[in-house]
Amino acid sequence: MSIASNIRNITTELSGTDVTLVAVTKTHPAETVMHAYQAGLRVFGENKALEMCDKHTALPSDIQWHMIGHLQSNKVKYIAPFVSLIHSIDSLKLLFTVEKEAAKNNRTIDCLLQFHVAEEETKHGLTLEEARVLLKSDGHTQLKNVRLCGIMGMATFTDNQDQVRREFRALHDHFNALKKEFFAQAPHFKTVSMGMSGDYKLAIAEGSNMVRVGSSIFGERGT
Ligand SMILES: *Cc1c(COP(=O)(O)O)cnc(C)c1O
Repeated sequence: MSIASNIRNITTELSGTDVTLVAVTKTHPAETVMHAYQAGLRVFGENKALEMCDKHTALPSDIQWHMIGHLQSNKVKYIAPFVSLIHSIDSLKLLFTVEKEAAKNNRTIDCLLQFHVAEEETKHGLTLEEARVLLKSDGHTQLKNVRLCGIMGMATFTDNQDQVRREFRALHDHFNALKKEFFAQAPHFKTVSMGMSGDYKLAIAEGSNMVRVGSSIFGERGT
């Protein structure tokens, strides 16, 4: 199936919902990404800062670029001038770096707190307790050029649907807990980024309003 028809199928499924589709373009060249742009998509996700910069330079300027992968502090400066949403905040240190680079660029950068709920050791992210510590810290309340807009997480890569559902439910519970404790007066704290090609329907059923879909749009990645 073509990229355009894959996109049509997914956007038809999502129409009438409040779910934002982030098309994950990692490893695909700019020409391929352009097909998705021509099919009408404007929100793209990358997991490497430099790859995102190259595509930002090569592609139309009305694209919103989302950083979805683990972000090293020393790479923030490359994406700070243009990034639209950073999904992968997992430490106060990283948040401070984003604050500093956003201020240099005279902008406010929207961010999500990334949680770890999956079994895999390698997946980055906070526990609910760590997020509470971060949000209670003095440093966090000083931030002026960062806006926390919600949470992001990944489920374990498994065929066990019950487990995936449980993990998405835990993520959504984390969102609700933080909303109540820290963001009750903050209407912009509303994003729940969860769900990828294999599990986005389940994620939406469990309250996701932002899905990050790569292979169901562009096909399997070569790596
Ligand atoms: C690669 C990636 C995706 C998309 O994965 P697919 O299975 O290809 O849809 C989503 N989220 C993150 C964080 C990723 O790294």
